[in-house]
Amino acid sequence: MEFSSKLLENAVYEMSQLPGIGKRTALRLVLHLLKQPEERTEHLTHALSKLKNEVNFCKSCHNISDTEICEICANPKRDENLVCVVEDIRDVMAIENTSQYNGLYHVLGGKISPMEGVGPQDLNIVSLINKVKEGKVKELIFALSSTMEGDTTNFYIYRQLEGLEVTTSAIARGISVGDELEYADEVTLGRSILNRVPFENSMKAN
Ligand SMILES: [Zn+2]
Repeated sequence: MEFSSKLLENAVYEMSQLPGIGKRTALRLVLHLLKQPEERTEHLTHALSKLKNEVNFCKSCHNISDTEICEICANPKRDENLVCVVEDIRDVMAIENTSQYNGLYHVLGGKISPMEGVGPQDLNIVSLINKVKEGKVKELIFALSSTMEGDTTNFYIYRQLEGLEVTTSAIARGISVGDELEYADEVTLGRSILNRVPFENSMKAN
């Protein structure tokens, strides 16, 4: 792509670093922004830099939060005996949208993936095991996507829990294998949480 302006080229380059944005789309977005009134682009850059500088992660569940402890963890009406283990905050949002779940979450921040160089130490696993050791959690619900990385992560955590007093379950596979949670419709996802199965059974099914 030949650019008539270095400024334009730089902006397109930065935009194209976003996932799913190719050079052409980047150019379209940059030209669109250029046509907007100045305050539009200022609001956008301001919101992004404020997010990056001020964002907090909940000390308990690692969800993105404006406060030290997120609204879900701080809500006394939620069942703290129940902890749903998810990959990232998009899954929290998807499950919250179902209105079928009243427990807490634990956001791992990814999945174990040797291919991408992500090991257990890169994820929020130690804090999860500690939470179980403290004895507050009665049931852990694995709600990772049913990809190989998701299954590996579930199994790794399951092994870490050996000897600890906690029930483990996995969401029912209403969600087809390989599907990401966030793409499941609310009814299916809600049902698969309510119809969860003991984790051991979910392994045999695979
Ligand atoms: Zn929280």
